[in-house]
Formats: sequence, C-alpha cells, structure tokens
Amino acid sequence: MKHNNASVLLSVHDVKVAYGGIQAVKGVSLEVREGELVSLIGSNGAGKTTTMKAITGLLPLGGGHIQLAGKTIDGQGPWDLVQQGLAMVPEGRGVFTRMTIVENLQMGAYIRDDQAQINADLERMYSFFPRLKERLGQLAGTLSGGEQQMVAMARALMSRPSLLLLDEPSMGLSPKMVETIFEVIRQVSEGGTTILLVEQNARLALQAAHHAYVMDSGLITMSGPASELLNDPQVRVAYLGE
Ligand code: ATP
Repeated sequence: MKHNNASVLLSVHDVKVAYGGIQAVKGVSLEVREGELVSLIGSNGAGKTTTMKAITGLLPLGGGHIQLAGKTIDGQGPWDLVQQGLAMVPEGRGVFTRMTIVENLQMGAYIRDDQAQINADLERMYSFFPRLKERLGQLAGTLSGGEQQMVAMARALMSRPSLLLLDEPSMGLSPKMVETIFEVIRQVSEGGTTILLVEQNARLALQAAHHAYVMDSGLITMSGPASELLNDPQVRVAYLGE
C-alpha cells in the first residue's frame, strides 16, 4: 500500500475510557500514518465517538496514551491540540450558530495571521462547497444539517490541520448531501491532509479509506487495508448488510 512507509502521525495506545463504572472503550490501539485516510467503523454504541473524544481531550483517559507526531498529547484539550495541528469536526457539527458562515470560517483560522493565505484558503473552501459562497452572510444556525456539516468541515480545514478528525459526517444527511461531503473528504485527503474518519456508513467509509479499523463493544476487532475489509465476508455480513 502506497502509504505504508510513511511515519505515524497519530498513535493511540491501549486507550480506556469509562463513564462512571461503565467501560465504553476497553483498550483501543490504532495508528494513522501521514497522508492516510483511516476509517473507524462499527455499529451504534461500539465506542467510536468515545474514542474520538478521548483523542481530543474531551474525555479523560482511564488508561493508555496518545501521541501526535511522536509527542504525548494525553490530557490536552481541543484548543491546545489545534495549535499542534489537530482539528476535529465533532458529531453534530458544533458550528457557531449565531455567527455567519464567513465568521465561522474565520474562527477556524484564529491561530493564523497569514492573511493572504487565509484569503486563499477561504476561496479553496468555497470551491469545495460553492453553496457556502452563496450564503456567506447567513447565520450558521439557520442552515440545513448538510450545510452545517460543510461549515464545520471548512472551519476545521481553515486551521490547516496536519490531522483532521471527522466524527460521523454523514449523520442525518440526505444521500445527495452525503455524496457531496464524501467527495470533499476524498479531495482533502488527496490534497495531502491526514484524516481519521469515524463513520457508521461502513461502505462509504471503507470505499474512501486507505486503512480501516472495526470497533465492537469497546474493542478493535479487525483492521487492515480498507479494500480488504470491504471484501471480507464477515465485514460484509456484519457491517455492509449483505
Ligand atoms: P454512535 O454511532 O451511536 O455514536 P459510538 O460507536 O460512537 O456509537 P459511543 O457514543 O462512543 O459509541 O458510545 C459507547 C458506549 O458508551 C455506549 O454504550 C454508550 O451508551 C456509552 N456512552 C456514551 N456517552 C455516554 C455518557 N455521556 N454517559 C454514559 N454512557 C455513555
């Protein structure tokens, strides 16, 4: 596989997370190499979102550790992590509803001061999502779910992340909108951004990814090149509805 020799950008090692006495993530290890698009799939309640929240410091680790580009990031919150090149699009998008589209995107670039480059990147976002350009002054809270997903992704990309985490980008969207969002994910990946994608739509997630992990009941149960998992009989029955 073309990215196998690339260095490891994100390393999650034996991570455990509990809600009160309930262990939701029971020792998860995974790696994302530079330039890769890695998908984490699994059914409802498998622990995917909890894993993402552990990576971004939104939940405390009950065990294990996490490294970004070789540096331990355990216990750091989202704001610190953005400075180190990690941007997250959370489940439910998290857009600033009372700000306009363009204000949301500018917020994404708050750690930068290269105004000419910021403007160029805004144009790049509008080419990914022409619909946003038509509505720059519209309050983000009045947008459709799909449009909010576009804003959330564009805002995250405006920080020029070395690693982009996407949690359930397809959730609640029409098939047409899901197609648009995945097309952009592919383009962003091809543009060189490393991506970790959590997604319940296993088929799409595996089609887009280089490498994938399957999670079940708080544990990684399978992993491998996404194309292999896509053809795996067990995966096909359990996650692709065949
Ligand atoms: P989904 O696709 O439904 O979000 P998921 O794989 O992301 O599924 P998680 O949301 O990580 O799964 O949930 C993992 C487990 O932790 C589930 O059993 C869930 O009920 C539990 N859980 C999640 N959030 C909380 C919480 N705030 N308090 C208690 N238990 C929680």
